[in-house]
Amino acid sequence: MQIDIERLKSTLLELARIGFNDEDKGVYRPGFSEADMAARRWLMELLTKEGFPAHMDGAGNVYGRLGDADRASVTLGSHLDTVPAGGIFDGALGVIAGLEVLRVCRDNRVPLQWPIEVLATSEEEGRYGGMLGAQAIAGELTPGLVLSMHDADNNLLADAMTAAGLQPLGALDARRLPESMRAFLELHVEQGPVLDNTGTTIGVVDGISGVFKWIVRLIGKADHAGTAPMNMRSDAFMGLADFAHEIPRIIDEDGTDRSRLTVGKVELKPGSPHTIPGEAVFTLVGRDSQESTMEDLANSCRKSLSAIARRHKLMFEYEQISWLGPMHCNPGIIEMLEKHSADLGFSYQRMPSGAGHDTQFLSLVTRAGLLFVPSVGGVSHSPDEWTHWHDVESGGNVLLHAAVALASEA
Ligand SMILES: [Zn+2]
Repeated sequence: MQIDIERLKSTLLELARIGFNDEDKGVYRPGFSEADMAARRWLMELLTKEGFPAHMDGAGNVYGRLGDADRASVTLGSHLDTVPAGGIFDGALGVIAGLEVLRVCRDNRVPLQWPIEVLATSEEEGRYGGMLGAQAIAGELTPGLVLSMHDADNNLLADAMTAAGLQPLGALDARRLPESMRAFLELHVEQGPVLDNTGTTIGVVDGISGVFKWIVRLIGKADHAGTAPMNMRSDAFMGLADFAHEIPRIIDEDGTDRSRLTVGKVELKPGSPHTIPGEAVFTLVGRDSQESTMEDLANSCRKSLSAIARRHKLMFEYEQISWLGPMHCNPGIIEMLEKHSADLGFSYQRMPSGAGHDTQFLSLVTRAGLLFVPSVGGVSHSPDEWTHWHDVESGGNVLLHAAVALASEA
């Protein structure tokens, strides 16, 4: 039994037309935008037309189901929204591959102990904070959170949901109880270079890295760049530069090969070519798949920054904007995905995910697993995002066999 790659491909390409921009060839389906809602309606119509009862919950998540409405489901899915100028696979692949699994099971009259369900989550990409639909399913939302979330331009999520025909607090009704779900599987493009570089077909994700974000301020003294001698300066940029050089050492000493430390955004003040920077404000984002390692990295960064501040006569302060612990995929599901990859003759490797995914929150509800297929050149969040159709087919077949096995459990 296998998926029909031509059918999957034509459905995925049909979806890619919703929100497609002819100028930059990117897909624009930001959460709760007109294109995003059009894609949700399109999916519900398609599901209904094909005989799978469909509905949208209060958070904008779309469901379609094969099998008993009242029994716990094996749920397959990912998100339908995209970043601006996104690619055609990110999120969409997991949804359409889930639909393809329903079709194959219907066509082959596969006897199922448990219903299989496809899920298209809402606002995963973070226009208003991210993973809204998945957080709603996990019961992680509060009224205060829903009503205060806003985008970078201060537009409220609540207004966008209202404009899309949803009641904002209805998102709180989207919660799924653990007894309503047997398992969750997400097929996603890797969005990184590892599988493509190593020529591996399937990535079986064992965990999603935790992430912390700081805003660091090094404060010195803004002086005339000509009159202040080199040994009498409190140059905030020199402090930042020293810290940047310390990052490899910090990772060597306190991190693992899964650790990441990134200075991604820097602002120098006053920001004039002839003035010594009196202040350097920068973001520091740290990741690892173990929380204790995240703590070690954070401590080491703190020590290093204070030593550097002393050396350069600077003041150092930081604010922790967020700390999200790592998530571990279900060990039984990991083994099962590896077994099906091997049985189908595909090369596979166990790997962490450096990026967040819906699976993170679904794992709070049920046994959850995440599968990757290669991204050509590791490119994603770009119109150039691409995954070869033969890899899509392989990932779809692992998803199919794992889903059928889970839906056949006693
Ligand atoms: Zn995604």
